[in-house]
Amino acid sequence: MARETLNPFEIAQKQVKSACDKLNADPAVYEILKNPMRVLEVSFPVRLDDGTVKTFIGYRSQHNNAVGPFKGGLRFHPDVTKDEVKALSTWMTFKCSVAGIPYGGGKGGMAIDPKDYSKAELERISKGFATAISPIIGEKVDIPAPDVNTNGQIMSWMVEAYEKVAGKSTKGVFTGKPLEFGGSLARTEATGYGVHLTAKKALAKLNMDVKGATYAVQGFGNVGFYTAYYAHKDGAKIIAFSNSHVAIYNENGIDMEAVIKDFEENGRILTNKGYGKDITNAELLELEVDVLAPCALENQITSENADRIKAKVITEGANGPTTPEADEILFKKGIVVIPDILANSGGVVVSYFEWVQNLQSYYWSFEEVQQKEDALLSTAFEDVWALADEYKVDLRNAAYMKSIERISKAMKLRGWY
Ligand code: GLU
Repeated sequence: MARETLNPFEIAQKQVKSACDKLNADPAVYEILKNPMRVLEVSFPVRLDDGTVKTFIGYRSQHNNAVGPFKGGLRFHPDVTKDEVKALSTWMTFKCSVAGIPYGGGKGGMAIDPKDYSKAELERISKGFATAISPIIGEKVDIPAPDVNTNGQIMSWMVEAYEKVAGKSTKGVFTGKPLEFGGSLARTEATGYGVHLTAKKALAKLNMDVKGATYAVQGFGNVGFYTAYYAHKDGAKIIAFSNSHVAIYNENGIDMEAVIKDFEENGRILTNKGYGKDITNAELLELEVDVLAPCALENQITSENADRIKAKVITEGANGPTTPEADEILFKKGIVVIPDILANSGGVVVSYFEWVQNLQSYYWSFEEVQQKEDALLSTAFEDVWALADEYKVDLRNAAYMKSIERISKAMKLRGWY
């Protein structure tokens, strides 16, 4: 067997190709979708606090805009590469389409660790990056948002930098903004809410009750935390979670009330305050649980460990945590994998609601936003489940197939093939 590729862009292309083949799509469809339409690499200088000047490299990849403007986050992480950004932008095209929102896919990032910089430096870096990509973004063109290690404050700095260039108020150019700055209620909770919601729906399909179901959550940033939060609210038992500081297991269920308090006070979980025993990240993935939620980074479940995964349902809070080879193994084992482009689409769905609210300058209640998210995700989940049944394929293939049907129609109508 050829060596398994861990290049995220090659993986994304493989996933798109597989679904195009299963749909028997016109060859032109894959030909158009296999590459992003534009990838911009920028380099810009920033003065650091010690007076020296450092040049930063950033990327913005715009995969496809047949359905609507490009949409997707900006990531600050040392492992960011051009290929990773290209893959992430590809996934965004299909994510927006599976949820039925009027966007194509985009993604950007910089290979930096924000912890290496002071707040003032981070502000200058964020504004420098937004200015550098300003020629290709815009409220009706390409709308960035938070991703790994970026947040509402960073989006606000970027709006400020962009508005300086644009010379007008245009807050809808970025989503994931703080509430006081044009953000939407229920946006912070949105991704984790959807990761759990789709898992709950999968459990119901397997005739399992969410009440008492066991969960292990890998990655305990915003997405992982809210996945656990809503699972706990529904009566599930969180028996393990991990982040870059801790990996904790408690077979009787972790005291989530204490964890929620700790998270809200410190913004993350820094130490194991007696929540359970310490384990490793690898052990967490292989625990016997009802639901495993990988909410960290790419390539966590590969051909190397897929055989040892014992979860009944995997709900992908992260983008790209499972390789195609691992997918095949999991499918044969009967493990239900809710793919990233469906499971974590709640984030971009509520980004869409934020954008709509910005455009009309009229704001909705928390309940209204969450109900609308619930409705879109529930429809998407049922459609994908039915398609998987019809074609006897896994949910990932089915999700791509549903998306490709929509995107290919838009491309056809535009005369792209
Ligand atoms: N970064 C998130 C994602 O990967 C959200 C993107 C958005 O809201 O545009 O889906």
